[in-house]
Amino acid sequence: MNKKDYYEVLGVDKNASDEEIKRAFRKLAKQYHPDINKEPGAEEKFKEIGEAYAVLSDPQKRSQYDQFGHAAFDGAGAGGFGGFDAGDIDLSEILRAAFGDSFGGFGGFSDFFGGSSRTASNRPRKGRDTLLRVDLTFSEAVFGADKDFDLLLNETCDKCQGKGGFDEDVCSYCHGKGTVITEQRSLFGVIQSRSTCPKCQGRGKSYQKMCSACSGTGQVKKKKTISIHIPEGVDTGYQLRISGKGEAGINGGPNGDIYLECHVKPSDFYERDNEDLYVTIPLTFAEAALGCKKEVPTVYGNVLMDIKAGTTNQTKFKLKGKGLKVLNSLRKGDQYVIVNVVTPGKLTREQKKLFEELAKTDLETASEFREYKKHLS
Ligand SMILES: [Zn+2]
Ligand SMILES: [Zn+2]
Repeated sequence: MNKKDYYEVLGVDKNASDEEIKRAFRKLAKQYHPDINKEPGAEEKFKEIGEAYAVLSDPQKRSQYDQFGHAAFDGAGAGGFGGFDAGDIDLSEILRAAFGDSFGGFGGFSDFFGGSSRTASNRPRKGRDTLLRVDLTFSEAVFGADKDFDLLLNETCDKCQGKGGFDEDVCSYCHGKGTVITEQRSLFGVIQSRSTCPKCQGRGKSYQKMCSACSGTGQVKKKKTISIHIPEGVDTGYQLRISGKGEAGINGGPNGDIYLECHVKPSDFYERDNEDLYVTIPLTFAEAALGCKKEVPTVYGNVLMDIKAGTTNQTKFKLKGKGLKVLNSLRKGDQYVIVNVVTPGKLTREQKKLFEELAKTDLETASEFREYKKHLS
């Protein structure tokens, strides 16, 4: 089959931008629409420009075409991209994309190309996804939690099995086609167009008796309890996906998903940096100077930490593996302990005496004192 070059068909340059291609197509489509142009060959020409635009408006198809020419879409061809012909493209959708909704008159385009007559409304569609916020305490985020949620979700109506009615009948309005021809005034005068049947919403069927439980929609709101395990180590913003537990699909489509987004209340003691934790603990002068065994809280219980004699203020210690669990791993973060040497405020008379005694000894042995004294004049 000797096909014309797609760029030639649209009258554009090989380097034409998407916008130029769209403009050229819109112009030609208006010119050759069979409802407007009754000249012989107009319909053929119209199909040709539709096919050219379907390929050149799709970046992937366009690049295949640029490389392999028409062979790219030849089922048995060297390109091996699988069967592609005008019938495979949903031209009504392409036209809608190129023209916007203002060109309702082009509704019947797919018929010219032998495309699927399935209308959007009876196509199986996935149910809506549901996003849920989960508030967690700090401890729940550390150790995980089992939570139950009550949700109000659209479920398939039990009474009519999602059909919306009883005693099925062929739709009297569209005679089972699912679409109706309407006449519309447009830019080009009166145009006949095909649109979804308003009575059966494209199903082609109607019911003698509407289901009262769902008012004909086939779905009812139902309270559903979802139980979910929150894993250890989650943080604010972490999303859990529960596949297929969301709203019921439409026309036999799959259920939607539920997304749980975690919000963790910060701890007033532990500061979190991903899986690591930071705490500050106070030390007395004596503990810092003499060293001690200091009890330190961790999320897994108290730990006795060795403070060496002569520990300075703001020293950072690491408690390995005392942080949070790393998600999807067996690893745990660490806890860092920063010491804060606290100067005593009020002293008893005895303490004051002892400090005075202490002050008589040489306490200025650290290098900082030597450095400081060098600068005294
Ligand atoms: Zn109908
Ligand atoms: Zn029902």
